[in-house]
Amino acid sequence: MIPFLDLKAINEQYQTELKEACSRVIDSGWYIMGKELASFEEEFAEYCGSKHSIGVANGLDALILTLRAWIELGKIKEGDEVIVPANTYIASILAISANRLTPVLVEPDPETFNLTADGIAKSITAKTKVILPVHLYGQISPMKEIMQLAKKHSLLVLEDCAQAHGAMIDGKKAGSWGDVGAFSFYPGKNLGALGDAGAITTDSDELYRVISALRNYGSHEKYKNDFKGVNSRLDEIQAAMLRVKLIHLESVTVRRQEIAKRYRDEIKNPFIKLPYVDTEAGHVWHLFVVCSEEREELQNWLAEYDVQTLIHYPIPPHKQQAYSDWNKQSKPITEMIHRQILSLPLDPTMSESNIDTVIELVNNFKM
Ligand SMILES: *Cc1c(COP(=O)(O)O)cnc(C)c1O
Repeated sequence: MIPFLDLKAINEQYQTELKEACSRVIDSGWYIMGKELASFEEEFAEYCGSKHSIGVANGLDALILTLRAWIELGKIKEGDEVIVPANTYIASILAISANRLTPVLVEPDPETFNLTADGIAKSITAKTKVILPVHLYGQISPMKEIMQLAKKHSLLVLEDCAQAHGAMIDGKKAGSWGDVGAFSFYPGKNLGALGDAGAITTDSDELYRVISALRNYGSHEKYKNDFKGVNSRLDEIQAAMLRVKLIHLESVTVRRQEIAKRYRDEIKNPFIKLPYVDTEAGHVWHLFVVCSEEREELQNWLAEYDVQTLIHYPIPPHKQQAYSDWNKQSKPITEMIHRQILSLPLDPTMSESNIDTVIELVNNFKM
């Protein structure tokens, strides 16, 4: 069997270091908001090229707490509009709804699957306050153009970097372009914890102060509450796991890029469209997503040969029951993407012979 992603094999590579780090936390007797978290925040901020990083419980909370902080700071208010790609993972949109802000679903570029500055510009109204670009599948959005547009219209920018740790434009990483970057360290993400975890990156001292409090009951000082906060802390064990895995992230990214390069160079089949790549450094290949009008057939064909594939994602947000008000809306590009996409196995621990097998099978589909 060729698994889609073998998490056990991925973490086994670092098991000595992970177990040592785990023992270090157990022996310390300090399990929440301690040295591991402080060190991880410093190391992750440096990795991203941001002044601050704040660990939180998961990626969804990283998005929710950023928008919440802007509300607390009086920069945005209930009912304001947030521009978000219509084809994103539901979490980006849930974070907007959770703050009683209004998601404005914008169709992505059909090649990159990301927002474009033009698409955003057409959707800006008097109520627009935030742009929330999502670097989907690991490819960074056109941040230079988006930041220019944001500046022109005085809009805030929150980058959803949950799939794009380390993706760059001109050497500047995802999460350091916008006002804030929101990251998930869900185990299957490019930088994955061994449980739930997330973080925010920002250069703003003010946001750093507010979000640090919001994640911990709205408190900077024990038993003194400045905000009606939540409990969304990143615990010491997960911070310690992430510190180990951050050391290896660069080599994992290089390996992902190598596998993607092989797929891109060697998959040749008129029934399959390969992913569009803007620049090599701009894509960290969280997922390798091909398109086919015969998607179901392709998935079944690969399954017959024990190759696991997944669909990211089968139902677009505007067709979800949770957003039944939107169910009648038509988003042709988004719907076409959801009908045609299929994610091939892309695992940094994948063997060359398994890569060969996937390529050969995909090339033999209907041929
Ligand atoms: C994974 C993901 C999230 C949410 O992260 P969690 O840690 O699972 O809460 C948000 N946005 C995108 C695009 C994601 O892929």
